[in-house]
Amino acid sequence: MGTKFNQVILTQNEMPERWYNILPDLPEPLPPPKDPEEGESRIKVLPEILLGECLKQEFSEERWIDIPEELQKIYFQAGRPRPLYRAINLEKKLDTPARLYYKSEFYSPTGSHKVNTALAQAFYAKKEGYERLATETGAGQWGTALAYGAALAGLKCTVFWVRAVHNWKHDRRNLIELFGAEVYASPSNRTEFGKTLYEKDPDHPGSLGIAISEGIEEAKKDPKAVYCLGSVLNHVLMHQTIIGLETKLQFEKFDCYPDIMISCLGGGSNFGGFVLPFVGDVLTQGKKIKFIAAQSKAAPNLQGEYRYDFADHAEQTPLLKMYTIGHQTQMVPIMGDGLRYHGCSPIISLLRDKGYIDTIAYPEDEKYVFEKAKIFIQTEGYLPAPESAYSIATAIDEAIKCKEKGEKRVIAFNVSGHGFLDIYGYREVLGLK
Ligand SMILES: *Cc1c(COP(=O)(O)O)cnc(C)c1O
Repeated sequence: MGTKFNQVILTQNEMPERWYNILPDLPEPLPPPKDPEEGESRIKVLPEILLGECLKQEFSEERWIDIPEELQKIYFQAGRPRPLYRAINLEKKLDTPARLYYKSEFYSPTGSHKVNTALAQAFYAKKEGYERLATETGAGQWGTALAYGAALAGLKCTVFWVRAVHNWKHDRRNLIELFGAEVYASPSNRTEFGKTLYEKDPDHPGSLGIAISEGIEEAKKDPKAVYCLGSVLNHVLMHQTIIGLETKLQFEKFDCYPDIMISCLGGGSNFGGFVLPFVGDVLTQGKKIKFIAAQSKAAPNLQGEYRYDFADHAEQTPLLKMYTIGHQTQMVPIMGDGLRYHGCSPIISLLRDKGYIDTIAYPEDEKYVFEKAKIFIQTEGYLPAPESAYSIATAIDEAIKCKEKGEKRVIAFNVSGHGFLDIYGYREVLGLK
């Protein structure tokens, strides 16, 4: 068929009505979460703090899971389906024989792909009778997405935000507040665990691990509150497969299929959401695609060890079998803060262990990555989130390799969010006035 257009926009009728669950198609069963040898069981408390429906999805062996019709309407409200663009101007600028395509998660109302799971979790929370969502946020994108989801569902929302980031992302904090959520710099004096640190040092910079502990404690002490997570877990990646399922349909309309697929990876939710429906093709239909996860040298978790590790600093979560650089490792701060996490989702980790996923990690000063993002801004006209800039850098690197080798490969990359609330990051790294 082909098309004269440089983008494919799906109608609402064409939006996928089911998520793809890769668990039954994995080359071997996913190692289950485990309890540590000492201390109380982390696994037993999961039903008290997590959503029933999400816990069910977490271990489901059903290949396809229906997106409830009401939730489909909320996805429409949030602007889904989202376009797939051919990066014609970028191709010209690079003078590459490769064809480049990108998915536009930057159209998200809050700035990132995280709304795809936030809306689902808020929807299920409402259905299960909860009145409040509790969570933590590092870079702030997840906190914003959940506050937005809560607002649309008519729920309250409490966000514990790593103080070091909270203190400089003033605009984003105000956006979370405009959605009606309460935001606490973490460690806070609102939780028992937070207090122990806060009272010693009210300026404690905090960490994602500490903020997770506060979110969990908050949900545990209020029976009307539930704890929500924005990445890493199986059900979160599954909610995100809406990205890849749309992309697949859009490639059909372009009469084309990707040779290389790229996205940035912190915990694995946008990368997984984008590639897993295509990984399914590789595993079950013998397709060949090179998948590349773009990371920062501040947290190159896919280059770590594949072993059981905690998901949080304070060791409150079960142990997950994953690629990890260690749950108490200090990581250098970067502007693409959403990529600064010690472990990678168990699903992506298993696929990496089996040789299906390649990875690259860029220097911590981020100059290389942000310079590449600038080329994208000046050719395609969209401002990527700092995290998404990593995805763009890898896509450009691959397109340049294609030029050197004279290869006409099809490269697809995901732009996971926009950077309108992160201009400061560009200013610092690129030395803008
Ligand atoms: C959170 C975030 C990421 C990284 O998280 P993943 O779970 O690996 O997707 C990437 N891009 C944006 C815009 C984010 O908000």
